[in-house]
Amino acid sequence: MKARYKYRCYPNLIQQVQLAKLFGCCRVVWNDALAHCIQEFKANKKKPSNTELQKVFITQAKKTINRAWLAEVSNIPLQQSLNDLNTAYQNFFNSCKGKRKGKTTRHPKFKSRKSKQTARFRKGGFKIGQDKVYLTKVGKLKVHWSRPLPNPPSSVTIIKDSANRYFLSFVVETSAEHLPKTENSTGIDLGINTFATLSNGEKILAPKPLKKNLKKLAKFQRKFAHTEKGSRRREKARLRVAKLHAKIKDIRTDFLHKLSTDLIRRYDVIVLEDLNVSGMLRNRKLSKAISDLGWRQFRTLTEAKCEKYGRDFRVINRWEPTSQKCSNCGFRGGKKELNVREWTCLNCGAVHDRDINAAVNILNVVSETVAEVTQPITKVETIETEILETPVQLSLFNEVAGGQSETLNKTRSRRKSTRKKAVANNESSTRLESFKQLSLFD
Ligand SMILES: [Zn+2]
Repeated sequence: MKARYKYRCYPNLIQQVQLAKLFGCCRVVWNDALAHCIQEFKANKKKPSNTELQKVFITQAKKTINRAWLAEVSNIPLQQSLNDLNTAYQNFFNSCKGKRKGKTTRHPKFKSRKSKQTARFRKGGFKIGQDKVYLTKVGKLKVHWSRPLPNPPSSVTIIKDSANRYFLSFVVETSAEHLPKTENSTGIDLGINTFATLSNGEKILAPKPLKKNLKKLAKFQRKFAHTEKGSRRREKARLRVAKLHAKIKDIRTDFLHKLSTDLIRRYDVIVLEDLNVSGMLRNRKLSKAISDLGWRQFRTLTEAKCEKYGRDFRVINRWEPTSQKCSNCGFRGGKKELNVREWTCLNCGAVHDRDINAAVNILNVVSETVAEVTQPITKVETIETEILETPVQLSLFNEVAGGQSETLNKTRSRRKSTRKKAVANNESSTRLESFKQLSLFD
């Protein structure tokens, strides 16, 4: 298993100049090669091979007058830059052919002087010392080892972010370490007011760094917009905006790291709800609040840590009615308005906090599916998702839609009843309750 270990580093002024040169060279090599590939494509020719590109745009380019300065930096990052371009193209081609999972990959883009700068050194290009890291033709960089490296790394990337901070990111081979079993499981309900509610009733609040700094950020951005292009003032103003953005991101990431680590220490099984984050971000009223929280990042971190420490990570179907069902008796009380924070079950009389109830239901969904493994669930589920995709987008924020979705729901509840006889029992009503269960809208 490969992992990245990132450390802050502090190059001196001379090294900063040398690094700027290096970043520039990597960028030029990439951009030259990319421009050539695009040209070849327009001429209906095949994409040149990686070896060919390396020969033309590194080895031969060094001999020309207007690219002679490529020789002033280490050759390794230049080769890595073109290797990356090759990978980017492969990902793009595979995505076009449908061989690649997930989101479609775009065509590689030109690199800009203004965005984050990187250069990668593989073995032979760097050496690790006591409190310094040596990079070829750059020198010994002072580094802050915030934690030890577990193994000798296979490569290191030097990064300069838009807030002018430098980082070294090492790729290290790590093995999964299994934490001792705790025999505890938890379901987690994510929300806007309370970041996470655990099925044991625990509520975790998140820092909202963006919300807190919104005014300041707006002020900085306004000042930046009023500066003259290319002026020193503008660069200063840009840096101030970038630094604040970096601070906001750091606060968020730090919180999410601590929370996810705490959770995987305490639980063997962690269950989350599959939230349609990109869909929700389209809601302008909520998008800022949601991106401020970092749900997606929370899921990614938790999943990665579960894999590393041998924990069971589960995600339940987005359409499970987790916030409508009574976690005590299974009775479906129907859709609840957003402001209803507490409700009483009509069937058994249990009083529920809506977030805790949802978290318990999220956990229960997994225990139920484990109990009925004999049933072919997966196939039915994919069909459901397909059918429901469009109406849900519409009904997410609205009240119950018209007749069309009504019929859809009928077919759905029929399917569902065949799937889960035990759970569905008396629930074949035509209500669209299953549509509104994203806990944050409740
Ligand atoms: Zn009940």
